[in-house]
Amino acid sequence: MTSTLAAATATREQDPDTIGGVVGAPPTARAEALLKRVTTGPGIESVTMTAPFTGRPTAVLPQATDNITRASFARARKAQPSWAATSVAERQRILLRLHELVLAHQDEGLDLIQVESGKARLDAFDEISATALVAAYYGKHSARLLAPRRAPGVLPLLTRATHTRHPRGVVGVISPWNYPLALTAMDVLPALVAGNTVVQKPDNQTALSALWLHELAERAGLPHDAWQIVLGRGSVIGDALVEESDYVCFTGSTPTGKRLASTIAKRLTDYSLELGGKNPMIVLPDADVSKAAAGAVAACFSSAGQLCVSVERIYVHNSIRDRFLTEFAERTRALRLGASLDYHAGMGSLTTAEQLRAVSEHVEDARAHGVTVVTGGRARPDVGPLFYEPTILTGVTDRSTLFADETFGPVVSVYDYADVDEAVELANDTPFGLNASVWSRDTRRAQEIATRLKAGTVNINEGYAATFGTVGVPMGGMKDSGVGRRNGSDGLLKYTESQSIAVQRGLRLRPARGVPPTLWAKALTAGLRVLRRLPGR
Ligand code: NAP
Repeated sequence: MTSTLAAATATREQDPDTIGGVVGAPPTARAEALLKRVTTGPGIESVTMTAPFTGRPTAVLPQATDNITRASFARARKAQPSWAATSVAERQRILLRLHELVLAHQDEGLDLIQVESGKARLDAFDEISATALVAAYYGKHSARLLAPRRAPGVLPLLTRATHTRHPRGVVGVISPWNYPLALTAMDVLPALVAGNTVVQKPDNQTALSALWLHELAERAGLPHDAWQIVLGRGSVIGDALVEESDYVCFTGSTPTGKRLASTIAKRLTDYSLELGGKNPMIVLPDADVSKAAAGAVAACFSSAGQLCVSVERIYVHNSIRDRFLTEFAERTRALRLGASLDYHAGMGSLTTAEQLRAVSEHVEDARAHGVTVVTGGRARPDVGPLFYEPTILTGVTDRSTLFADETFGPVVSVYDYADVDEAVELANDTPFGLNASVWSRDTRRAQEIATRLKAGTVNINEGYAATFGTVGVPMGGMKDSGVGRRNGSDGLLKYTESQSIAVQRGLRLRPARGVPPTLWAKALTAGLRVLRRLPGR
């Protein structure tokens, strides 16, 4: 499919003297068509969003009220029984068709992601591939994962037990702006295939990317009301989302996640929270320095560091520290910044003015505390209004805010260490526990170190992509990085209520009339000893 959005948004030819061509993003007919999927009402407010590459308007978004949000839940609730009655096989087929549609129409998806988030096209492609991987995984494995399971009953042959799973009902999904397509797919698709309907609140900044997937899902066969998208500020519609949901799946910052958890707890509704990180990378003395340096560039600067699993702290063994730093800095300086809807640039823009301010403040605060800026350390308005250079710092101490706080931008601190126990201790010395990375030629040793790291995912000889792309294993955070997991069986089963059904035949599980309880207890004691030895129990 030709990229209508690209044609509609290119404002001038690429200038080979600037780094990448600049594209604008006026509201287009395509954006307006996508926005027809959002519920609106009379007299509601709207907000105008802008493209990070240019600061020009992208779309005018209607902002839901509390009532509109609750009405979306009512529609989703009405649609849920018939969706749950659809066979899992049919729900899987829809996901597999979606997989094909996403790949076939990727050019438009890439344009939308880039225009809304400002990321480089290769980073946008990560979202297309993650979406395809997730659709394929749940499109192939859900029936098996959701199938009822027999379990050995308490009395062999006389008790028959089955463990079943039911959809929870209507799942509320709240998504951030940094991975608008991938995170929508990872959180919404498993909820749907488990038989739930969904009301999602994407971030305003990247609403069109979520709506694009919604459109393709309907083309793949998803019933109209099964997935509702509402747009609006969390401060306005957050209460309705939490109060109406039978399960809440939140992705965003740790402070917002903690606030939401305390509200959700009052209703005893279950939830998952995918939150922030301050992810460490450990480079062991035997690591391939070139590969580690190249890996660090991807780990720290993909999506301009606006990636929950990106690396913000690097611990390098002191024997290779200088070689690593030299090569890492060279490769970082070679990254091309650019604002074009093609694969020209190595790194894109920050997404919002708020992010630019936060990143600049972190770096200025670190400078004021005497750190060394090895490379980067400044905004690049000459490339686009929200660009910031990929930045490497050394000499960072706990006096700087970015020592412990998530920057969520293209800024990394490099430290050295003398022995591996020290490196593990430093890596774990954080309230967060989302992702970590270990580099070594000895992958066995690296795996042993991985088990000592308090992080939900650990990548060996990779920064984050190995676990992020392996959607068959769970992803999520320990400590302040979250509760629950997405992906894998956990990412599907969390959207189900578990129910155990046991059928008892013959003997009752109480002494029969006339049998003294002491005799019954004795017989059962002997029976329990035998049961423990039976295979499969
Ligand atoms: P955020 O401010 O917490 O916002 C995330 C989402 O929550 C947005 O859609 C936001 O919408 C909404 N929200 C805010 N307050 C709400 C409320 N009271 N009720 C309901 N919704 C509410 O986070 P962000 O700054 O956008 O995202 C960056 C953070 O997300 C980083 O810390 C990053 O590490 C984390 N993240 C984590 C993962 C992961 O998988 N662990 C993945 C991606 C990002 P409004 O602001 O418009 O209200």
